[in-house]
Amino acid sequence: MFRQEIPRIDSKRRANFDPKRRQFAPEAHTLVEYPHRLNLYDSPPTSEITLEQFEQWAIDRLRILAELETCSFRNKTQTETITHLEPLLRKYLPLSSNSSSSSARPAERQKDHYSHFILRLAFSRTEDLRRRFAKLETSLFRMRFMQDDSRERASFVESLNLEWEAVGEEERAVLAKELIAAGGGYREDARWFKVEWERVPELVESRRVFLKGGKAYVPVREQLSLVVAEFSSQLERGLELTSRALPRLDEDDRLTPILNHLSTHFSTPAFASSTSSDALASSAISAATIPAIAQHFPLCMKHLQTTLATTHHLKHFGRLQYTLFLKGIGLSLDDAIQFWRQSFSSITDDRFNKDYRYNVRHAYGDVGGDANRRGRGYSPFSCQKILIEHHPNTGDAHGCPYRHFSVDNLTSLLQATGVTDRDVLKEVREDVGKSRYHIACNKVFEHTHKAEIKRAKDEEGWGAAELDTIVHPNTYFKRSYLLKNFGQAKAEEGPGDAMEIEGGN
Ligand code: SF4
Repeated sequence: MFRQEIPRIDSKRRANFDPKRRQFAPEAHTLVEYPHRLNLYDSPPTSEITLEQFEQWAIDRLRILAELETCSFRNKTQTETITHLEPLLRKYLPLSSNSSSSSARPAERQKDHYSHFILRLAFSRTEDLRRRFAKLETSLFRMRFMQDDSRERASFVESLNLEWEAVGEEERAVLAKELIAAGGGYREDARWFKVEWERVPELVESRRVFLKGGKAYVPVREQLSLVVAEFSSQLERGLELTSRALPRLDEDDRLTPILNHLSTHFSTPAFASSTSSDALASSAISAATIPAIAQHFPLCMKHLQTTLATTHHLKHFGRLQYTLFLKGIGLSLDDAIQFWRQSFSSITDDRFNKDYRYNVRHAYGDVGGDANRRGRGYSPFSCQKILIEHHPNTGDAHGCPYRHFSVDNLTSLLQATGVTDRDVLKEVREDVGKSRYHIACNKVFEHTHKAEIKRAKDEEGWGAAELDTIVHPNTYFKRSYLLKNFGQAKAEEGPGDAMEIEGGN
């Protein structure tokens, strides 16, 4: 598919390139076999996949990495993280063991291999992206390593041929006292390895190894740390190499936009765009019920609704953000026009029809040319789009309050919407200070739906697939509405239906 070193083809060579010769040239692509579930990703894939697979596989992996990062931001323990991620991994990045009889096993391993390398390309652009990607991939590898069948794990480690220097019997006897002191339950017959101390920083930091002459003496039971350290250092080297080769990739105008798109979405919340599954089939959504159901809106939309109700007006981007959100929750075009007409109560019918009606119809795809998504209109904005595009100016009400409000104004707004818990407000301030806007929003959601979430988990078996991190205002609304109107929950939201992924809006 692509090589670590991407060959440069200058314009002269390109002009002389003979398609006939190329047609009869030997096939350079080879099919990779995957004897193990785990992969150190030391060689890039070379066979072809479609552009759709290229993008979708990367998005699926990105979703897992984003959830892993969220778990770490939220200080979840390793066990909590595994419990949270298991259903998502089953859905988006399954990886069956050799003992499984699943016929999907080769395809799963291929997807895992390719998606890793695609994201490598996307995230090797900057130091920050490389660091985050390496950290998250290492966590994913560690999780999988720990969960692997012990026989398969041993066979995988053996296949790596890692150059760990075994500590000989004689040396072990000489250092017995030190090894016992460092390694706790030392046994005479246990195997030990010597490695450069920089390769096992975790063990050094937690004083679980003996250090001498720049080497760390590692007992075999700490194999996990050794393999993870190997994974991490290989990946860091690989990312460096990829970053140097990247300028040459800019020749490919099919891949570059996809890769840019992926890396942009890693900077702010994960991928998501609203789909028809975010609209409720319920008749509760109409022009008349919007003010009442606004209790289920995320802070950005609550703020737009409050501003609209008090000033009877919203500026352009506020109207656009709110119209598309309302469309996404299931408000029909007729109801939307009625809603905006009633809300703009200080202007005449003529002025409304002349200045505003067309825009509502355009957002719904009722008018407008090809650019208007072939009659479907525009998709509701995701958090990512709201966070980074159309920065609000004075007098604007659009945007995300977690990002665009001062901390004092954000606190007041939250308090006005009933969030008064000091600990929650403190955590929100901390998250906002670290630019984790969507994490703050998710914390507020969990706080304000604490009882309902508990009940959904206890009585209906909701898990991570239904309660994954919210990265779209329409998902926020739908989940809130279904949790509070619990009877409809299962009928309207099947497992994993909470958020569908598309290219991103
Ligand atoms: Fe709205 Fe997303 Fe900001 Fe929450 S994080 S307030 S849903 S834009």
